[in-house]
Amino acid sequence: MSIYDDETPLCERFPEPWADRMWGFDDEDVDAAERRDLLRAGARICEQCPFRLECLAKAIVLHSRTGLSGGMSKSMRGAMARIAERDGVACRDKTAGSDSERIRRLIAWLELHPEAFDTAREEESERRKERRHAAATPKHRVGLARRRPKIATSPAQQPLF
Ligand code: SF4
Repeated sequence: MSIYDDETPLCERFPEPWADRMWGFDDEDVDAAERRDLLRAGARICEQCPFRLECLAKAIVLHSRTGLSGGMSKSMRGAMARIAERDGVACRDKTAGSDSERIRRLIAWLELHPEAFDTAREEESERRKERRHAAATPKHRVGLARRRPKIATSPAQQPLF
């Protein structure tokens, strides 16, 4: 196997521990920042992989839950699936054909819609922001309530009866 052959997916050309770290993201030995950097590198390599569309379509149709596929994380793949479904490609619906039929249809759709990669990334980034905002809001409110100065009521402001 040469690193220049077109028959081997790019991730399979890397030695084991690095391939696991860059595409599997289940390595507990690396800290969060390092893991992010490795994933980013993996995603960039996927962009050049001759199997990218097939890899991504398989992961979406077969509901793969872990790792990077076609350069996309599980949540990004979800965004991509929603975009394809909005466009009439029922990629996750088991009643819409066999797995291999749906994979084939999704690959064909991906070939026609290269812009969907950017759209999926943007939609996922928006969703992440919304999730972060939703998670932060209750704490933020608690923080505000704690910081709110207590207004002293003078006898004149108290109810008369
Ligand atoms: S696109 Fe898929 S097969 Fe290719 S390098 Fe990425 S994870 Fe591996």
